[in-house]
Amino acid sequence: SESVAAPENFAFDSAPGQQAVLSGEKFEFQTEVSRLMNIVINSLYKTPEIFLRELISNGSDALDKVRFQALTDPSALDANPNLNVTIAVNKEKRTITITDSGIGMTKQDLQKNLGTIAKSGTSEFLETMAGDKADMDLIGKFGVGFYSVFLVADKVRVTSKNNNDDQYIWESTAVNDFTIAKDPAGNTLGRGTQIAIHLKEDQVQYLEDTRLQELITKYSEFINFPIYIRRTKT
Ligand code: ADP
Ligand code: MG
Repeated sequence: SESVAAPENFAFDSAPGQQAVLSGEKFEFQTEVSRLMNIVINSLYKTPEIFLRELISNGSDALDKVRFQALTDPSALDANPNLNVTIAVNKEKRTITITDSGIGMTKQDLQKNLGTIAKSGTSEFLETMAGDKADMDLIGKFGVGFYSVFLVADKVRVTSKNNNDDQYIWESTAVNDFTIAKDPAGNTLGRGTQIAIHLKEDQVQYLEDTRLQELITKYSEFINFPIYIRRTKT
């Protein structure tokens, strides 16, 4: 099987509990996003592991998009020709990092895609879910997506590089707002997106290679790109 070097640069170097290194531009989550996040946290707390399925599927979607773009513009792949998802953990920092070499997001994409909900049927969904009992079927059909990361994370940093913009960092603790800043490190990704997750204290199971491997096997069956786990030395 092919061997592809994992990106060497992982962001999220600020220690747990430490203030963010960046002072980015602040944005409020759209009200619907806050409501969706509450629904996700309150209904799916028993199966937090689904965050990995959602993030891998987003990575796969992004890889599909850049591969499609390359059909008409082969240079779209120049900045990073290896199409894959790489997962790495840092036990000391209690972080897990999921990196894809997909299409990436511009600053505007980050603001829109990770701050609002564009999906049709959202208000209907939120209204139905506002009742006292969670309709798990409906949640499944709606697709909880990116925001499920806050089932396991107390802080998330998304670093992204799209061919049409500089590399930007989106950061949030899920409380009301998020920040976006140009990455002072410049373009370390080439192209793609890196989700750095600082795990909640009671979610450290996802730092274990065996647990990750189990989940990847479970959730990556239909993913058409290689998924690598970058093993820790300890
Ligand atoms: P969905 O995947 O159903 O659209 P998500 O909440 O999972 O909903 O993601 C919202 C949007 O954020 C995606 O549609 C995509 O535009 C963007 N996005 C999320 N993750 C990535 C990623 N890894 N690379 C590029 N874009 C992403
Ligand atoms: Mg998704």
